[in-house]
Amino acid sequence: MLVLIIMSTNKGEKILQLENTYAKLPAVFYSLQKPVPVSKPNLVLFNKSLAKDLGLEFLNQQRDLISNYLSGNEIPDGSKPLAQAYAGHQFGHFTMLGDGRAILLGEQIDPNGKRFDIKLKGSGQTPYSRRGDGRASLYSMLREYLISESMHHLGIPTTRSLAVVSTGEKVFREQVHNGAILTRIAASHIRVGTFEYVSNFCTKEDLQILTKYTIKRHYPELSDKENPALELLKVVMQKQIDLIVNWMRVVFIHGVMNTDNMSIASETIDYGPCALMNSYNLNTVFSSIDTYGRYAYGNQPNIAQWNLTAFANSLLPIIAENQNEAIELAKDVLKDFQHIFKEKWYKMMFDKLGIFRPTEKDEDLVNDLLSLMKTNKSDYTQVFLALQHNKKLDNPLFNKQEFNHWIQKWNSPHHAPDFELMKRSNPKIIPRNHWVEDALEAAVEGNMIPFNQLFSKLSEPYGNHPDEFVFEEIPKEFDVNYQTFCGT
Ligand code: AMP
Ligand code: MG
Repeated sequence: MLVLIIMSTNKGEKILQLENTYAKLPAVFYSLQKPVPVSKPNLVLFNKSLAKDLGLEFLNQQRDLISNYLSGNEIPDGSKPLAQAYAGHQFGHFTMLGDGRAILLGEQIDPNGKRFDIKLKGSGQTPYSRRGDGRASLYSMLREYLISESMHHLGIPTTRSLAVVSTGEKVFREQVHNGAILTRIAASHIRVGTFEYVSNFCTKEDLQILTKYTIKRHYPELSDKENPALELLKVVMQKQIDLIVNWMRVVFIHGVMNTDNMSIASETIDYGPCALMNSYNLNTVFSSIDTYGRYAYGNQPNIAQWNLTAFANSLLPIIAENQNEAIELAKDVLKDFQHIFKEKWYKMMFDKLGIFRPTEKDEDLVNDLLSLMKTNKSDYTQVFLALQHNKKLDNPLFNKQEFNHWIQKWNSPHHAPDFELMKRSNPKIIPRNHWVEDALEAAVEGNMIPFNQLFSKLSEPYGNHPDEFVFEEIPKEFDVNYQTFCGT
């Protein structure tokens, strides 16, 4: 097996050499396409610690080389740049999509032998661009960098951000922005939408090939099973449940959980209109286009199940020859979603409350707290920390009789909250909307100091941050009018 090869130039500098197994798959899976060069690449951010993890440490000292590679102006050796084809259900409607503004440069094998995609986002038009310009704004690429890395440090599976390079070119949206390219690192970019594309528009043999490739890359233990496609559905369902439970834990709202934005490796992917919530309310939506709350905070488990049904549907031709039998087999897997989710969600909530050995009655304890938090518009993150620190917050909740009763029940000898467990489950800092916006506003004006300060705090979400910072007052009206946008 070929592992990472780092070659040397005549000058003795190391250069990057990538693998490209995806380019060896059937040609209908992608379009070979080079990034469109940019006029003035300038490295804005480079994630040295991620570079080290990936075995790309040698790049750290070579800023020009990084900005040339990660703007797409120079193609690494062995790379066969391509745009991946995929389809997807967007807000429930099936459509053909594909990488309209991203290019897969190739795959890097890390020092542990794990394979990662290196993909440029905002790298110019592709055959899937439709009417889009193929570009991205500096603002939105910095936002993805900040929130995706924060999610990683919160302990949540996610695509990572290796770099942001500004292009020296303008991007036209409702306003004029500076353009930038993000380097996204992912276990792979295979989505539910990739399966939907192959199942709908390619042959059954192609579907077998995609399934085999996916299993080999992400779930090799399934390859010897009697029905690998069905096993793939099962494992992806389990992983998605874990992922959504984790999102619920830190109050992350993805905002656009279309099937093309659901990764088969079950990493959080596509940081478009995402945001984290302050006051607890299941109906919270920040995305400007999500008028009916399809992707609201509390609807995320239902949508995950909906997307998994679309995934199952695309696998039917290879689950069994007889399609009625295939449907029955798939249904039998999907029917477990709700109860597995519920069990894992309660377990996560018990951890947040430090309840080590819960009884069935403790489910009410969780429900009662959340209902009190909703009524009193309490900040979710701060309430758990206040409980953990035995602290009173300046929120009506803390003056309510019912809440005092609740605390007595929670603190009863039967429970004796495990504070170590709470510490591991309750982040002291999350990327709050007003902090993120302040940092980005300065960053797009060229001042990276607030961004770097915030980034550093978010890199240690369970660390010992000072109390006055953690319990800082949250601007009351900020979230009421806060809106996020796709594809900026
Ligand atoms: P997203 O909302 O990021 O999941 O994108 C949905 C689809 O729109 C994908 O096929 C993207 O590649 C495409 N897309 C988003 N923005 C652009 C753009 N500026 N130019 C071309 N394609 C885009
Ligand atoms: Mg997307």
